[in-house]
Amino acid sequence: MVFPFYDAKNTATIICCHVINGEKPILFVSHDEDDGMWQFLCGKAHETDDAKLVSLKYVFELDNSVGDLADMPCGYYATRETQKDNWVITKR
Ligand SMILES: [Zn+2]
Repeated sequence: MVFPFYDAKNTATIICCHVINGEKPILFVSHDEDDGMWQFLCGKAHETDDAKLVSLKYVFELDNSVGDLADMPCGYYATRETQKDNWVITKR
C-alpha cells in the first residue's frame, strides 16, 4: 500500500481516543488552515483530553480510507456517515 500523503509519514497528527481505542471509526477529518495540522476524529464532541498525537503513518495504517483525502487542501474538512460511505469534503 503506497503512502499517498505529501506530508512525511512521521507528521504529527491529532486523533481522538475513541478511534485509537477502536470504539469508533474515523468519521471526521480536518486539514487545518492555520497550521496544516491533520485531525482524525470520530465525529462526536471532544474534550481536550480526548485528543492524542500520533504519526500520519499510524492513522493511514489504522484506516487506509483516509488516503482518499491525501489531496484535500488546508482549510477543508471531510465527513462521512459511516466507515463505508464516501467522504464529503467541505470548505471551512
Ligand atoms: Zn472521538
